Amino acid sequence: AELAELVRSHVRDVPDFPSEGVLFRDITPLIADGPAFDALITALADAYRGRIDAVAGLESRGFILAAPLAARLGIGMVMVRKAGRLPGPVLGVDYSLEYGTARLEVRAETVQDGSRVLILDDVLATGGTAAAAITLIEQAGGHVPGLAVLLELEALAGRRKLEGYEVQSVLTY
Ligand code: 5GP
Repeated sequence: AELAELVRSHVRDVPDFPSEGVLFRDITPLIADGPAFDALITALADAYRGRIDAVAGLESRGFILAAPLAARLGIGMVMVRKAGRLPGPVLGVDYSLEYGTARLEVRAETVQDGSRVLILDDVLATGGTAAAAITLIEQAGGHVPGLAVLLELEALAGRRKLEGYEVQSVLTY
């Protein structure tokens, strides 16, 4: 609860970004605050130590969280990237957005067979991104015990797309 308040006080609400009618939750103040950032990574490390073998960060803001968590735990980080950014061979999964589609890719060689891979991102909205990442890690041979996010936008019901997976959020809106 203390951590949730710390995070809440470092998230900026930005109306009409990136487009009209969207209320964007901006985490840049949190990342820019050394003690707050450290408290967050420490809490995540304490929550997952010994329970996971790797952490998959979703480009771009998921990377910012996944890399320090992986280093803190002494485990690897799997980079899940947008289409065309990773040198091949890659596995890819297409998923639908509100308008159009997107694609996530991973190098299967970076996922150890049967390893427990936590998916980590900044925000859970509709859940489309997280669901695609789970599919990708499983296709690459990993086991996904769950998903962790900093912020969960409850109104968008992302959890419903992730049934059967443990979803942990530091803070819900
Ligand atoms: P979803 O696929 O769940 O609809 O969207 C989640 C993805 O969109 C995440 O990768 C997240 O970074 C981004 N996203 C959606 N809404 C927000 C927001 O309000 N703030 C931030 N920081 N990211 C968002």
